Amino acid sequence: MPESLRITVLGSGTSSGVPTIGCGCATCASTDPRDNRLRPSVLMQYANKNVLIDTTPDFRAQALRAHIARVDAILYTHAHADHILGLDDVRPLNYHQKMSIPAYGTVETFDIVRRIFRYAFDPEPSQSSAPRVDLNTITQQPFDLFGLRVIPIPLMHGHGLTLGFRFGNAAYLTDHSHIPEESKSLLQNLDVLFLDALRHRPHPTHSTVAQSLESVKQLEPRRAYFTHICHDLPHAETEAAFPPNVRLAYDGLELEVPL
Ligand SMILES: [Zn+2]
Ligand SMILES: [Zn+2]
Ligand SMILES: [Zn+2]
Repeated sequence: MPESLRITVLGSGTSSGVPTIGCGCATCASTDPRDNRLRPSVLMQYANKNVLIDTTPDFRAQALRAHIARVDAILYTHAHADHILGLDDVRPLNYHQKMSIPAYGTVETFDIVRRIFRYAFDPEPSQSSAPRVDLNTITQQPFDLFGLRVIPIPLMHGHGLTLGFRFGNAAYLTDHSHIPEESKSLLQNLDVLFLDALRHRPHPTHSTVAQSLESVKQLEPRRAYFTHICHDLPHAETEAAFPPNVRLAYDGLELEVPL
């Protein structure tokens, strides 16, 4: 069993990213680098393996910025555009690693991935290059990934379902508006918990700052980080109002978690 997990936040922003196209608000115009948020994704590193959660439309920029030279597995939370559209950019990794990359996600997620990236799964030979991933369907059952038990955490994202993932003492729960009771029992004794916290105003498919602060109270992780953040939340000012064990995630944040 690996001893520690390194988590790197590749993107802490909501679906449109921050700054947002055409917006001149204080957060979008901010010079604080923590207000610069690419689309939501994290890299989990353990046992000399790199496990990527989601392939955002910013994946290329994220991989270059974090010096990611290899990806051993991709875990998909769900198939919204801000979580899958960078899949094509794994092509250089396929080339360097000389292999197809294993991906894990639900049947529903992979139905959409196969439809949107049809050229990648078309059995007909093509003159163009395509990303190569092996789709491994997962359910809510825990599974082994490079010697660590990964626990999928079912979450409600409006009417839809997404998966969070628990790796040892850390859990990453992006896109959700509600954490079902059965899932809460899988989130006890956490050292680090990432939670969706889009903004203050209610949203049909996302948790708000107040809702996620409530989740922290209930689940009592040692440390919590909020992610999938929109431009309503300037980093410094928002975080100043949080209890000391709750922080806003930011791009480039790295955490070391004992397993
Ligand atoms: Zn999202
Ligand atoms: Zn803005
Ligand atoms: Zn979503």
